[in-house]
Formats: sequence, structure tokens, C-alpha cells
Amino acid sequence: MIVIMQPNATDSSIHAVISYIEEKGLTTHLSKGEEVTIIGIVGNKTKISEDNLASFHEVDRVVPVSESYKLVNRKFHPDSSIIKVGNTFIGPDNLTIMAGPCAVETEEQLMSIAYAVKKSGATILRGGAYKPRTSPYSFQGLEEEGLQYMLNAKKETGLSTICEVVSLDAINAAVKYVDMLQIGARNMQNFYLLKEAGRSGLPVLLKRGLCATIEEWLNAAEYIIAEGNPNVVLCERGIRTYETATRNTLDLSAVPVLKEKTHLPIIVDPSHSTGVSRYVAPMAKASVACDADGLMIEVHNDPAHALSDGPQSLTFDQFDKLTGELRPFCALVNRTF
Ligand code: PEP
Ligand code: MN
Repeated sequence: MIVIMQPNATDSSIHAVISYIEEKGLTTHLSKGEEVTIIGIVGNKTKISEDNLASFHEVDRVVPVSESYKLVNRKFHPDSSIIKVGNTFIGPDNLTIMAGPCAVETEEQLMSIAYAVKKSGATILRGGAYKPRTSPYSFQGLEEEGLQYMLNAKKETGLSTICEVVSLDAINAAVKYVDMLQIGARNMQNFYLLKEAGRSGLPVLLKRGLCATIEEWLNAAEYIIAEGNPNVVLCERGIRTYETATRNTLDLSAVPVLKEKTHLPIIVDPSHSTGVSRYVAPMAKASVACDADGLMIEVHNDPAHALSDGPQSLTFDQFDKLTGELRPFCALVNRTF
């Protein structure tokens, strides 16, 4: 349930409503926008009466929220959220590009990629140190050593950084080295991990599960925010369908659907969704055109010899050409890049 206050409602009216709700043992979430103030209510709503609430001074109306996710719901928070990651922001005004290798392989490799992606306009360096690989015999990541290289690259280039975490140990290590945690597709419904990420204090990028509906995905985001961490960004990375021409099927319609349902930013990963480097540029452009808040793109100094995801990784030149081509698309949707 949400309580919508009249425009220009006074603080004392707002606080009277909040006190009434909290005295009944429910939790409130205040969203003070430029035009409208909304008080979101989480908890057992049988304990409060809609009619009582509607009769409070300067309450405009009381609206039920039928969805199971509340804190991520745009009804709770009509303004689009802007999420700070290191020294950059993800939100409605700009296009944020996260780029880097699938896996951190060596310090030299990471440093050369960091400089190249920065030159082409990326502001966040991605690099996996814990790799959830399909086969147990594939390269599993450098773990804490890889995180140390991420920190070194951040210090050298000034880029903000993101790394995937797969366990509580990985979270405890990552918080010492990077600016944002990534929860990968395979862990989207690992609810224990989501809660721990919520308690980490770092912003979290939550990728869509391979077979997850948008509703399941939003409920997963709710787990993180319910721990007191409002800094969540969603990443569409393709879903499993019957089609085999691409690695996954990129569900771009998730972008406008999510813009309606949630205030959280949504970025698109055209690398894991297509799995083929030559399809990355067209899908990146389409993502910007449908108003995604950012992109995650895999870039490698030598894709043919990458330890993971080489076939979908762009070379430095391909990435540079793409970011140049994205600029007119950003202008069309009024985003700076
Ligand atoms: C990745 O970003 O390297 C990754 C493993 O992505 P996903 O979880 O989307 O498969
Ligand atoms: Mn990858």
C-alpha cells in the first residue's frame, strides 16, 4: 500500500502518517519527489485501515500495491533512481559503459584493457575474478589476486570497478578492492547470496537469471534492497529460449517493461546475450535506442586466446568504433556520453 500526500503537504502531516503506520508495527519508506511525496508501507497491512489513513490531514489518496515487490516498485518511488558507483553514476541522464575482460587473466592484460576501454569512453572496468564456468575444468578465475589487479587498474586509470561474487567469501574479499558487486545470472535466485550482497554496503549489479521472469528478477532485487541497500542496478543479459543461433535470446523488451515497473536503472549486456562478437554492436545500439541506462561489454586484448568468452569479446578497435557509433543514439534519447 502507498499513501500519496497532497502536493506541498507539510512535514508535520507527513510525520503524523508515518507515526501512525509505524506504531502499528509496519515499516515505512518515504519518497519525496519534486512534485509528489509518497509513503510506502511494508508489512502486515491487515493491521491498518485504508480509510483511517485516507482521513489524515493532507493525504491525497491511498493506493494498494498488488505486486509482491515493494521497495523496487516504481509506485513506491516514482522518480528514477541514480546509483553512484565509485566516482560515476548510473541513471536516466547519461549512458554508462562497463567494459573489460570476461576474466582477469594477468595484471598486464587487465591494465592494457583498462587503458583502452577508458580511452573509448567506458567509466567502469569489469573483470571476473571468480568465474562460474559451465565446466569445472575451465579456468575458474584468479580470485583475490584478480581483485588486487582490479584495484591496481582503478588506481592507475581512475576507472570505477565491478567484479562478480559467487559466495560470502568472495563478497568479503571484493568489498576491499572493488566499487560494485555483480550477482551473475546463475546466482540470481541464490537468496542467501542476495541478502549478503544487500549487507555489503556496495552497489550491486543484478543480472537476469537464465530462465527468470521479470517478476522473479524484481523479487530478487527486492531481497537486496530489503537488507537496507537501495543501490541496485538490473542487467538484461539474454534468456534461454529454443533459438540456438545466438548464445541466449536478448529480451530488449525487458527495458521498457522494467522502466514502467521499477525505479532502478537497467543496463544491457549484448556480449553474453549474443555470444558472438559481430552481433554485439547492433544490439548495443538497439539497447541505447530503447533507452537502457548503460551497457556491459566484454573487451579483450587478444580474443582468440582469451581464457573465457573469447568469441563474444571485442578487440580494442572494435570497441572504439562501437562507442563512436553510439554517440548519435545517445543524442536521440537525450543522454550524455
Ligand atoms: C559475466 O559477466 O562474465 C557472466 C558470467 O555473466 P552472466 O552471469 O550474465 O552469464
Ligand atoms: Mn563472460
